[in-house]
Amino acid sequence: MRLMAVHAHPDDESSRGAATLAKYAAEGHEVLVVTATGGERGDILNPAMNLPGIHENLTDVRREEMALAAKTLGVGHHWLGFTDSGLHLDPGLVPADGFARVPLAESSARLVEVIKQFRPHVMVTYNECGGYPHPDHIRCHQMAVAAYEDCPSVAKLYYFHEIVRVTPRMVRIAGRAERVISRIPRRTSSAAAPRDLRLGEVAVPGWVRASSVLTQRVRGRRATTEVACGDYFSVRDRALRAHASQVDPNGPFFLVPWTWRQHLWPTEKFELARSRVATTAPETDLFAGL
Ligand SMILES: [Zn+2]
Repeated sequence: MRLMAVHAHPDDESSRGAATLAKYAAEGHEVLVVTATGGERGDILNPAMNLPGIHENLTDVRREEMALAAKTLGVGHHWLGFTDSGLHLDPGLVPADGFARVPLAESSARLVEVIKQFRPHVMVTYNECGGYPHPDHIRCHQMAVAAYEDCPSVAKLYYFHEIVRVTPRMVRIAGRAERVISRIPRRTSSAAAPRDLRLGEVAVPGWVRASSVLTQRVRGRRATTEVACGDYFSVRDRALRAHASQVDPNGPFFLVPWTWRQHLWPTEKFELARSRVATTAPETDLFAGL
């Protein structure tokens, strides 16, 4: 089977649904990540990479990082070649050359060409909110939906599952979690593996379990499909670290060890948005019904 994930920027593929992509690739399916833009307007978020030479060559740096991330996940990769719009909550501030300003017919036609070559059975992209309100993510959603509608050969279209509603209770719990997480010693790369193993064996604190259940409930509202992919969380972390200029290895992404995540959130969730085959929710496989 063939699976295509449509993303806005290099590094998005290593955070949303990455363990699922790695799992399907490892099981022998063909997986292709399509990235709309080069991530040219992203900030350098890793202090260790904020160096002369990196800014000037950001496009090349991001290309090398993306190639390493794709290799780590075991997937193919294709650039659509649009330009990063930058993070603007006000659409009026998106630069004229930004992907979000490219007419939808033009961007979706470019994606349709890639679909015709790769012939995916299943496509995955963001929901209508983009996951977070980056204009490129919202445009990416519109582009992928339009391309799916133009390509009857694609059987299913999924959205990466996102938090659909943030409640005051979630904010309170997140604040509590943040305080506790801030007390977890920061990992260095040499100490990471043994500490992970040790944490994996200890009992998970009750507040973590409670917040996990609540988060699952809130997040679960639109999810139709849960893919068990805990065995690939370490691959997902390695792929994310490959984006060294965008991702701080000491940042919040890595503070909760993946061994904890295997206990608490051993799946990645998706929402079946469109289907041309018969299937029944809940599903455990993106290729169900095919
Ligand atoms: Zn992005």
